[in-house]
Amino acid sequence: MTAPDHPILLCHDCGAPHALPPVSPGHRAECHRCGAVLRHFRTGGLGQAVALAIASTILFVTANLFPILTFELEGRAQTATLLSGSVALWDGGYEVLGVLVFFVLFLAPLAQVLGTLYVVMPLAAGRTAAPGAAWTFRTVARLRRWAMAEVFLLGLIVAYVKLSDLAELEPGASLAALVAFILVQVWGEASLSPFEVWERIAPQTRVTQAAAADPERLTACHDCHQVVAGSDGACPRCGARLHHRKPNSLPRGWALISAATILYIPANLLPIMTVVYFGAGQPDTILSGVEALIAAEMWPVALLVFFASITVPVLKLIGLAYLLWTVQRGSPKRQRDRTRLYRLIEGVGRWSMVDIFMISLLAALVQLGAIATIHAEIGAVAFAAVVIITMLASESFDPRLIWDAPPRRAQRQDSSMIDAHD
Ligand SMILES: [Zn+2]
Ligand SMILES: [Zn+2]
Repeated sequence: MTAPDHPILLCHDCGAPHALPPVSPGHRAECHRCGAVLRHFRTGGLGQAVALAIASTILFVTANLFPILTFELEGRAQTATLLSGSVALWDGGYEVLGVLVFFVLFLAPLAQVLGTLYVVMPLAAGRTAAPGAAWTFRTVARLRRWAMAEVFLLGLIVAYVKLSDLAELEPGASLAALVAFILVQVWGEASLSPFEVWERIAPQTRVTQAAAADPERLTACHDCHQVVAGSDGACPRCGARLHHRKPNSLPRGWALISAATILYIPANLLPIMTVVYFGAGQPDTILSGVEALIAAEMWPVALLVFFASITVPVLKLIGLAYLLWTVQRGSPKRQRDRTRLYRLIEGVGRWSMVDIFMISLLAALVQLGAIATIHAEIGAVAFAAVVIITMLASESFDPRLIWDAPPRRAQRQDSSMIDAHD
């Protein structure tokens, strides 16, 4: 386990110690215990990452310069840019939603591309890391889940389908730029190895042989994965606070799940938006929106909205409660499956924002005075809160707790824990 040539690393999902040799082309290294990908060979190198980050920046600016959709009805036209939805929500009296959409659709993606460029450009040129590179790269990684351009695109498709019955819709130049931005972002992420970037910012300092012999006492930095003996103070590489496990994972998780469960009720009972068409209209709840799509025989979109807005939040809440409960009981069963469940919950959470983006676009596009208007309603705030709070709950959960021996019963269950690993 402690081959002297390779630095020790701890699996980010289960905490198992590994001494990994470099990963060869076309291969990846997986954790033997939980199956997490520890290292992935990236072909592109830092030069390609810089090129893609520059392309991303240009595409993101272009995506914000021109209209994204134009809506025409009864000879009147209304255009929306990427940020119109945020402005419409703010103007409609839902400032908190306006700020949320601005953050996930503009600030977070922009900070991601610019932050990556700032960190990777000097490294690719063979120079030393830029000032504050560690802090910047850490922040970029933490912002990843909050940058939701691709979820917005899905919201745009739903808005398009909903409006296509009502009126003429014209895609704008910025829509193509947005799609290209999303694709280049995915490509950029697939070609950049965070491990390599961290090694270039500052090579990992190795723990001593004596410390490596006792992996229980080792702590891995949550942000840069530097392994340290003990669990106090700041990470010597990136400066983040070190914790052996995320602090207060269980009480925080329970508190957030409870809050989201309570808010889920008004999110579904109260209207999320009102559509007024030639003076007549009524408020829509999430469910009545799905029913309207079914009535219009738009099955794929109806299923998509039902899944993203109704099923996913419930499954997330049940899944997280199950994880917290089994960890609390110190259950040694199905650890690998529970770790998979955690990854699934982490991955799907953001997609529930589809309805919020859809409302923001409709509110921006359909402002045609006496002919037709659409505006957000209070249910949308409750629903957005459910999505954000469940995302925070899964973020605060530490999957390594699934694999930790329960403190009081550790001795008794040690043998069964080992049996249950595979
Ligand atoms: Zn693992
Ligand atoms: Zn660190």
